[in-house]
Amino acid sequence: MNFSEIKGQDKAIKNLRAILAAEKIPSVFLFSGPDGVGKKLAAQIFAQIVLCSQRDKNQSPCEVCPSCLAVQREVHPDFKMVDLSYQANLRDEELSKQRTLRVDTIRHLRSEMSMEPMLGGWKAAVIVDAENLEIESSNALLKILEEPPRKTFWILLSSQAQTLPKTILSRALKIPFAPIPKKLVAKVLEERGIKSNSALELCAGSIGRALEFSKRENWPGVLTESPLSAIQACEALPRDLPSSRREAELVFFSLSENLRRFYHQGKISFERFEKAARDISWLKVAVRSNADPRASVLLACLKAQEAGLKT
Ligand SMILES: [Zn+2]
Repeated sequence: MNFSEIKGQDKAIKNLRAILAAEKIPSVFLFSGPDGVGKKLAAQIFAQIVLCSQRDKNQSPCEVCPSCLAVQREVHPDFKMVDLSYQANLRDEELSKQRTLRVDTIRHLRSEMSMEPMLGGWKAAVIVDAENLEIESSNALLKILEEPPRKTFWILLSSQAQTLPKTILSRALKIPFAPIPKKLVAKVLEERGIKSNSALELCAGSIGRALEFSKRENWPGVLTESPLSAIQACEALPRDLPSSRREAELVFFSLSENLRRFYHQGKISFERFEKAARDISWLKVAVRSNADPRASVLLACLKAQEAGLKT
Protein backbone atom coordinates (compact mmCIF):
# COMPACT_ATOMS: atom_id res chain seq x y z
CA MET A 1 0.00 0.00 0.00
CA ASN A 2 1.20 3.49 -0.74
CA PHE A 3 -0.21 6.93 -1.37
CA SER A 4 -0.29 6.49 -5.15
CA GLU A 5 -3.34 4.22 -4.63
CA ILE A 6 -5.39 7.21 -3.49
CA LYS A 7 -6.97 9.06 -6.39
CA GLY A 8 -7.97 12.70 -6.60
CA GLN A 9 -6.66 13.80 -3.18
CA ASP A 10 -3.41 15.48 -4.21
CA LYS A 11 -3.69 18.26 -1.65
CA ALA A 12 -4.39 15.98 1.32
CA ILE A 13 -1.60 13.59 0.32
CA LYS A 14 0.81 16.49 -0.20
CA ASN A 15 0.06 17.64 3.37
CA LEU A 16 0.64 14.16 4.77
CA ARG A 17 3.91 13.78 2.87
CA ALA A 18 5.10 17.14 4.19
CA ILE A 19 4.39 15.98 7.75
CA LEU A 20 6.36 12.78 7.16
CA ALA A 21 9.24 14.72 5.62
CA ALA A 22 9.39 17.05 8.61
CA GLU A 23 9.49 14.00 10.93
CA LYS A 24 7.17 15.80 13.30
CA ILE A 25 4.01 13.78 13.76
CA PRO A 26 1.14 15.74 15.38
CA SER A 27 -0.74 13.72 17.95
CA VAL A 28 -4.28 14.33 16.66
CA PHE A 29 -5.52 14.47 13.07
CA LEU A 30 -8.95 14.95 11.61
CA PHE A 31 -9.47 13.62 8.10
CA SER A 32 -12.75 15.19 7.04
CA GLY A 33 -14.73 14.87 3.82
CA PRO A 34 -17.44 12.80 2.14
CA ASP A 35 -17.65 9.02 2.57
CA GLY A 36 -15.85 6.95 -0.03
CA VAL A 37 -13.13 9.42 -1.06
CA GLY A 38 -10.12 7.65 0.48
CA LYS A 39 -9.91 8.93 4.08
CA LYS A 40 -9.66 5.50 5.67
CA LEU A 41 -7.14 4.17 3.17
CA ALA A 42 -5.03 7.32 3.57
CA ALA A 43 -5.09 6.90 7.36
CA GLN A 44 -4.03 3.27 7.06
CA ILE A 45 -1.19 4.09 4.68
CA PHE A 46 -0.02 7.05 6.77
CA ALA A 47 0.04 4.87 9.90
CA GLN A 48 1.81 2.06 8.07
CA ILE A 49 4.53 4.48 6.93
CA VAL A 50 5.06 5.94 10.40
CA LEU A 51 5.13 2.50 12.00
CA CYS A 52 7.37 0.96 9.31
CA SER A 53 10.85 0.25 10.63
CA GLN A 54 12.57 0.72 7.26
CA ARG A 55 10.64 3.35 5.36
CA ASP A 56 12.44 4.88 2.43
CA LYS A 57 13.07 8.49 1.49
CA ASN A 58 10.07 8.47 -0.86
CA GLN A 59 7.87 8.04 2.17
CA SER A 60 6.66 4.64 1.15
CA PRO A 61 6.34 1.74 3.56
CA CYS A 62 8.84 -1.08 2.92
CA GLU A 63 6.02 -3.69 2.80
CA VAL A 64 8.30 -6.42 4.21
CA CYS A 65 9.20 -5.49 7.79
CA PRO A 66 7.23 -7.18 10.61
CA SER A 67 5.35 -3.92 11.22
CA CYS A 68 4.23 -3.52 7.58
CA LEU A 69 3.17 -7.16 7.35
CA ALA A 70 1.18 -6.86 10.58
CA VAL A 71 -0.60 -3.68 9.41
CA GLN A 72 -1.57 -5.34 6.13
CA ARG A 73 -2.94 -8.39 7.94
CA GLU A 74 -4.76 -6.17 10.41
CA VAL A 75 -3.06 -7.77 13.41
CA HIS A 76 -0.61 -5.01 14.37
CA PRO A 77 -0.55 -4.72 18.18
CA ASP A 78 0.27 -0.98 17.99
CA PHE A 79 -2.28 -0.02 15.34
CA LYS A 80 -5.98 0.11 16.12
CA MET A 81 -8.72 0.64 13.56
CA VAL A 82 -11.60 1.61 15.81
CA ASP A 83 -15.04 1.15 14.31
CA LEU A 84 -18.26 -0.66 15.15
CA SER A 85 -16.71 -4.07 14.33
CA TYR A 86 -13.79 -3.34 16.67
CA GLN A 87 -16.37 -2.64 19.36
CA ALA A 88 -18.37 -5.78 18.53
CA ASN A 89 -15.21 -7.92 18.92
CA LEU A 90 -14.31 -6.20 22.14
CA ARG A 91 -17.75 -6.71 23.65
CA ASP A 92 -18.13 -10.14 22.11
CA GLU A 93 -21.45 -9.06 20.66
CA GLU A 94 -22.98 -9.11 17.21
CA LEU A 95 -22.07 -6.29 14.88
CA SER A 96 -25.79 -5.62 14.36
CA LYS A 97 -26.08 -4.56 18.00
CA GLN A 98 -23.52 -1.75 17.70
CA ARG A 99 -25.01 1.66 17.04
CA THR A 100 -22.59 4.15 18.56
CA LEU A 101 -19.00 4.11 19.85
CA ARG A 102 -19.43 3.61 23.56
CA VAL A 103 -17.46 4.99 26.46
CA ASP A 104 -16.14 1.55 27.53
CA THR A 105 -14.67 1.07 24.07
CA ILE A 106 -12.84 4.39 24.27
CA ARG A 107 -11.63 3.67 27.82
CA HIS A 108 -10.28 0.32 26.63
CA LEU A 109 -8.58 2.01 23.69
CA ARG A 110 -7.15 4.63 26.00
CA SER A 111 -5.51 2.04 28.24
CA GLU A 112 -4.14 0.14 25.20
CA MET A 113 -2.68 3.31 23.75
CA SER A 114 -1.05 4.16 27.08
CA MET A 115 1.06 0.99 27.03
CA GLU A 116 4.53 0.90 25.53
CA PRO A 117 4.60 -0.03 21.83
CA MET A 118 5.05 -3.78 21.31
CA LEU A 119 7.08 -3.42 18.14
CA GLY A 120 9.15 -0.59 19.46
CA GLY A 121 8.02 2.29 17.25
CA TRP A 122 4.87 4.35 17.29
CA LYS A 123 1.32 3.55 18.30
CA ALA A 124 -1.63 4.74 16.21
CA ALA A 125 -5.40 4.65 16.49
CA VAL A 126 -7.82 5.50 13.70
CA ILE A 127 -11.37 6.32 14.78
CA VAL A 128 -13.66 5.57 11.86
CA ASP A 129 -16.86 7.66 11.57
CA ALA A 130 -15.97 9.72 14.62
CA GLU A 131 -19.50 11.17 14.55
CA ASN A 132 -20.56 7.81 16.07
CA LEU A 133 -18.88 8.75 19.36
CA GLU A 134 -21.34 9.25 22.20
CA ILE A 135 -20.89 12.44 24.22
CA GLU A 136 -19.42 10.50 27.11
CA SER A 137 -17.08 8.70 24.69
CA SER A 138 -15.92 12.02 23.23
CA ASN A 139 -15.15 13.22 26.73
CA ALA A 140 -13.21 10.03 27.49
CA LEU A 141 -11.29 10.49 24.25
CA LEU A 142 -10.61 14.13 25.01
CA LYS A 143 -8.89 13.14 28.25
CA ILE A 144 -6.17 11.28 26.38
CA LEU A 145 -6.00 13.76 23.51
CA GLU A 146 -5.23 16.49 26.02
CA GLU A 147 -2.12 14.65 27.12
CA PRO A 148 -1.36 12.02 24.54
CA PRO A 149 1.22 9.39 25.53
CA ARG A 150 4.61 9.83 23.87
CA LYS A 151 4.92 8.47 20.32
CA THR A 152 1.21 7.96 19.82
CA PHE A 153 -1.04 9.57 17.25
CA TRP A 154 -4.77 9.53 16.64
CA ILE A 155 -6.61 9.97 13.36
CA LEU A 156 -10.31 10.79 13.47
CA LEU A 157 -12.24 10.19 10.25
CA SER A 158 -15.54 11.94 9.70
CA SER A 159 -17.96 12.90 6.97
CA GLN A 160 -19.74 15.15 9.47
CA ALA A 161 -16.87 16.86 11.21
CA GLN A 162 -19.08 19.83 12.09
CA THR A 163 -20.95 17.61 14.57
CA LEU A 164 -17.82 16.75 16.60
CA PRO A 165 -17.22 18.58 19.89
CA LYS A 166 -15.25 21.81 19.52
CA THR A 167 -12.88 20.70 22.28
CA ILE A 168 -11.76 17.82 20.04
CA LEU A 169 -11.80 19.79 16.80
CA SER A 170 -9.56 22.48 18.26
CA ARG A 171 -6.87 19.91 19.07
CA ALA A 172 -6.78 18.23 15.69
CA LEU A 173 -4.71 19.00 12.64
CA LYS A 174 -7.33 19.14 9.91
CA ILE A 175 -6.70 17.38 6.62
CA PRO A 176 -9.69 17.94 4.33
CA PHE A 177 -10.52 15.36 1.66
CA ALA A 178 -12.38 16.74 -1.35
CA PRO A 179 -15.05 15.17 -3.55
CA ILE A 180 -13.30 13.41 -6.44
CA PRO A 181 -13.64 15.00 -9.93
CA LYS A 182 -16.18 13.21 -12.13
CA LYS A 183 -13.58 12.40 -14.82
CA LEU A 184 -11.45 10.58 -12.29
CA VAL A 185 -14.41 8.58 -10.91
CA ALA A 186 -15.29 7.65 -14.51
CA LYS A 187 -11.71 6.45 -15.05
CA VAL A 188 -11.74 4.30 -11.91
CA LEU A 189 -15.07 2.73 -12.92
CA GLU A 190 -13.73 2.10 -16.42
CA GLU A 191 -10.58 0.45 -15.05
CA ARG A 192 -12.81 -1.93 -13.11
CA GLY A 193 -14.90 -2.69 -16.19
CA ILE A 194 -17.98 -0.95 -14.77
CA LYS A 195 -20.31 0.89 -17.12
CA SER A 196 -22.87 2.81 -15.16
CA ASN A 197 -23.85 6.34 -16.02
CA SER A 198 -26.31 6.57 -13.17
CA ALA A 199 -23.60 5.57 -10.65
CA LEU A 200 -21.41 8.34 -12.02
CA GLU A 201 -24.23 10.90 -11.93
CA LEU A 202 -25.34 10.03 -8.41
CA CYS A 203 -22.04 9.52 -6.60
CA ALA A 204 -21.22 13.25 -6.04
CA GLY A 205 -17.47 12.72 -6.13
CA SER A 206 -17.27 9.55 -4.05
CA ILE A 207 -15.67 6.49 -5.63
CA GLY A 208 -16.99 4.33 -2.78
CA ARG A 209 -20.55 5.45 -3.48
CA ALA A 210 -20.14 5.07 -7.26
CA LEU A 211 -19.08 1.45 -6.72
CA GLU A 212 -22.05 0.86 -4.41
CA PHE A 213 -24.51 2.42 -6.86
CA SER A 214 -23.10 0.43 -9.76
CA LYS A 215 -24.20 -2.77 -7.97
CA ARG A 216 -27.81 -1.64 -7.73
CA GLU A 217 -29.72 -2.16 -10.90
CA ASN A 218 -31.97 0.55 -12.24
CA TRP A 219 -31.34 2.93 -9.39
CA PRO A 220 -32.56 5.51 -8.69
CA GLY A 221 -35.57 5.19 -11.02
CA VAL A 222 -36.70 1.91 -9.49
CA LEU A 223 -37.07 3.56 -6.07
CA THR A 224 -39.69 6.03 -7.19
CA GLU A 225 -41.68 4.41 -9.99
CA SER A 226 -44.80 3.82 -7.91
CA PRO A 227 -45.95 3.35 -4.30
CA LEU A 228 -45.33 -0.38 -4.82
CA SER A 229 -41.71 0.23 -5.82
CA ALA A 230 -41.25 2.26 -2.61
CA ILE A 231 -42.51 -0.74 -0.62
CA GLN A 232 -40.22 -3.06 -2.57
CA ALA A 233 -37.25 -0.78 -1.86
CA CYS A 234 -37.94 -0.95 1.84
CA GLU A 235 -38.46 -4.73 1.77
CA ALA A 236 -35.15 -5.16 -0.06
CA LEU A 237 -33.15 -3.65 2.81
CA PRO A 238 -30.78 -6.13 4.48
CA ARG A 239 -31.96 -7.67 7.76
CA ASP A 240 -29.04 -6.69 9.97
CA LEU A 241 -29.11 -3.17 11.33
CA PRO A 242 -25.70 -1.75 10.30
CA SER A 243 -26.14 -2.94 6.70
CA SER A 244 -29.71 -1.72 6.50
CA ARG A 245 -28.66 1.69 7.86
CA ARG A 246 -25.88 1.88 5.27
CA GLU A 247 -28.29 0.90 2.50
CA ALA A 248 -30.84 3.45 3.75
CA GLU A 249 -28.16 6.16 3.56
CA LEU A 250 -27.53 5.21 -0.06
CA VAL A 251 -31.25 5.42 -0.81
CA PHE A 252 -31.47 8.88 0.81
CA PHE A 253 -28.39 10.06 -0.99
CA SER A 254 -29.52 8.85 -4.41
CA LEU A 255 -33.00 10.36 -3.95
CA SER A 256 -31.53 13.73 -2.92
CA GLU A 257 -29.11 13.78 -5.84
CA ASN A 258 -31.87 12.85 -8.24
CA LEU A 259 -34.15 15.55 -6.85
CA ARG A 260 -31.34 18.05 -7.40
CA ARG A 261 -30.93 16.84 -10.98
CA PHE A 262 -34.66 17.06 -11.70
CA TYR A 263 -34.74 20.59 -10.30
CA HIS A 264 -31.74 21.70 -12.39
CA GLN A 265 -33.35 20.18 -15.48
CA GLY A 266 -36.51 22.19 -14.76
CA LYS A 267 -38.62 19.07 -14.20
CA ILE A 268 -39.70 20.05 -10.69
CA SER A 269 -40.14 23.41 -8.96
CA PHE A 270 -37.75 24.74 -6.35
CA GLU A 271 -40.45 24.48 -3.66
CA ARG A 272 -41.01 20.80 -4.35
CA PHE A 273 -37.28 20.08 -4.53
CA GLU A 274 -36.56 21.94 -1.33
CA LYS A 275 -39.38 20.38 0.69
CA ALA A 276 -38.59 16.81 -0.35
CA ALA A 277 -34.83 17.32 0.14
CA ARG A 278 -35.49 18.68 3.62
CA ASP A 279 -37.78 15.79 4.53
CA ILE A 280 -35.21 13.27 3.30
CA SER A 281 -32.38 14.90 5.17
CA TRP A 282 -34.52 14.81 8.30
CA LEU A 283 -35.13 11.06 7.76
CA LYS A 284 -31.39 10.56 7.38
CA VAL A 285 -30.78 12.16 10.76
CA ALA A 286 -33.61 10.08 12.24
CA VAL A 287 -32.03 6.81 11.04
CA ARG A 288 -28.71 7.83 12.56
CA SER A 289 -30.54 8.39 15.83
CA ASN A 290 -31.98 4.89 15.72
CA ALA A 291 -35.21 5.35 13.73
CA ASP A 292 -36.26 2.25 11.78
CA PRO A 293 -34.40 2.24 8.42
CA ARG A 294 -37.25 0.42 6.64
CA ALA A 295 -39.99 2.84 7.60
CA SER A 296 -37.66 5.75 6.83
CA VAL A 297 -36.76 4.43 3.38
CA LEU A 298 -40.45 3.89 2.55
CA LEU A 299 -41.26 7.42 3.63
CA ALA A 300 -38.32 8.92 1.72
CA CYS A 301 -39.31 7.15 -1.52
CA LEU A 302 -42.92 8.33 -1.12
CA LYS A 303 -41.78 11.91 -0.40
CA ALA A 304 -39.61 11.89 -3.52
CA GLN A 305 -42.53 10.56 -5.61
CA GLU A 306 -44.78 13.22 -4.19
CA ALA A 307 -42.27 15.86 -5.28
CA GLY A 308 -42.52 14.53 -8.85
CA LEU A 309 -39.50 12.29 -8.96
CA LYS A 310 -40.68 9.69 -11.41
CA THR A 311 -38.90 8.16 -14.33
ZN1 LIG B 1 7.96 -1.66 6.74
